[in-house]
Amino acid sequence: MTTNYLKLQFYSHPRNQAFARDAVAAFCVELNPTLSDISDVKCAVSEAVTNCTVHAYRGNLGLVCVECEIEDKKLHIKVSDTGRGIADIQKAVQPFYTTLPSDERSGMGFTIMQTFMDEFSVNSIQGEGTVVYMSKTFNSEVENA
Ligand code: ATP
Ligand code: MG
Repeated sequence: MTTNYLKLQFYSHPRNQAFARDAVAAFCVELNPTLSDISDVKCAVSEAVTNCTVHAYRGNLGLVCVECEIEDKKLHIKVSDTGRGIADIQKAVQPFYTTLPSDERSGMGFTIMQTFMDEFSVNSIQGEGTVVYMSKTFNSEVENA
């Protein structure tokens, strides 16, 4: 059962990346996270939100939505945009795959999300937008003992 819920909607300005990751980090404090948990969640959120800025809207302003739910010790995060969408999701999630190599992109954003979170999936429709889902379970009692 969901015990807490947060929805943030903001413009895809690069300056909102820090705000988004810090807001999600603050939201999950009730799960008694370790510093490592917080760092993982912040990195994953940063990568997902950055993708909305640089890929979904390609420098134009659009809306990014970050939704979080707490269910027992599990944090669910959904980052969505209504931008250009992804042509081939299987390719896009491969390490080092990027459609913007000229832009100093390394193609590691999705790999970072998969590595730092327990669950990860992407849904996208070209011309309509993209939804990234991630979750992480916090075993704080064990790790903080
Ligand atoms: P890096 O994250 O290392 O700077 P990157 O953003 O290219 O590089 P990923 O984050 O792994 O790498 O994304 C891989 C590719 O998936 C991108 O190059 C882009 O083509 C596509 N992509 C990712 N997120 C979105 C999105 N929200 N909208 C449209 N395309 C996206
Ligand atoms: Mg990226």
